[in-house]
Amino acid sequence: MDEPEFLFELRVCRWAEQYWPPDGERRDSAVLVARQLGTRGRRWDTIVLECDPDGLDARAVFGEERLDSDLLHVVQHAPASWAWYRDALPDPGYPWRYVREAVHEAADRGLVETRDGTNGRIELRRKYRYPEWVRRIIAIENKPDLDASAARVLGDQLERDVALGLADEVWVATRATGADVEPALYERLPVEAGILAVGDDSVDVAWNATSLAVDAPGTRILERPSGNEHDQSAARFEYADPAWKADKRLQIAERAYERGWRSFVDTMRPDCRHFELRDPDLPLPYCAAKGRHVTAGECRHACSERSPEPPAWRTNGWPIEGGPGAALKRLLADQRASRR
Ligand code: SF4
Repeated sequence: MDEPEFLFELRVCRWAEQYWPPDGERRDSAVLVARQLGTRGRRWDTIVLECDPDGLDARAVFGEERLDSDLLHVVQHAPASWAWYRDALPDPGYPWRYVREAVHEAADRGLVETRDGTNGRIELRRKYRYPEWVRRIIAIENKPDLDASAARVLGDQLERDVALGLADEVWVATRATGADVEPALYERLPVEAGILAVGDDSVDVAWNATSLAVDAPGTRILERPSGNEHDQSAARFEYADPAWKADKRLQIAERAYERGWRSFVDTMRPDCRHFELRDPDLPLPYCAAKGRHVTAGECRHACSERSPEPPAWRTNGWPIEGGPGAALKRLLADQRASRR
């Protein structure tokens, strides 16, 4: 049976973590990988962050949790010396009371310092400078079985990605078949999109990606003619300004920082007795009852073969801090933390 897209995606994540950039260039960035992130209208399968190594270290002092846009507004502009928050922070374009809440949250999380100033005004000052830690964002769509209809849908999505230019590069990862059919399907994808041919033991670049203009205004394609002869409608576009793009990129990076790609286990049942990660280096979820790897869609509460760990395993530190499910989650969390 062909490998499901979910497992293919995890393999691509692990490969990117180890080997990005794909053309064998020397890696001079720290690499973080996450999955299933993007904007409200577009979610990418795999996200690769190329990070400044010192910047990534400096980001760590802000904790493992992501900073949302409100918190970023505070930490990026918090002054070096005490100041009333309304004097210190730029007008956010929304009510100040939300900024005040974010200042309190930032203080609760130890990201800034606050005190009551004159007339009860809340003053803040920064504890750490928020670093420039993200160099480039790479989006990868995973499509193990790239047939004609998948290539058509993907081509449309990728054209939108290229026009918007939110990621520095967009790629498609597909299973290497070695058949002549590949090049014909590749032609349906925009030339700017790179193509990774994923084999059992190696990943080859079938087509290199073009760097997109992330600092320039982007174009959001809202609607386009279907292409058939009866469709006379015009395409509709919207402009995306560079500041919006920069904000979105950082928010995506922050979410990627928090989640990584091993968080897939959070939506599965590692507390089932049959759940295994046979190879910690490539932690694909395996079900001993089914005798094969399983997807997040199969391995869930409603699974008919699920056999929960006895509650006693999870409590009283059995045998050390919970049962096997807890240990597996811890293993993945430790691996995630070591990447940061
Ligand atoms: S039996 Fe079901 S819940 Fe248990 S590991 Fe297998 S797929 Fe997951």
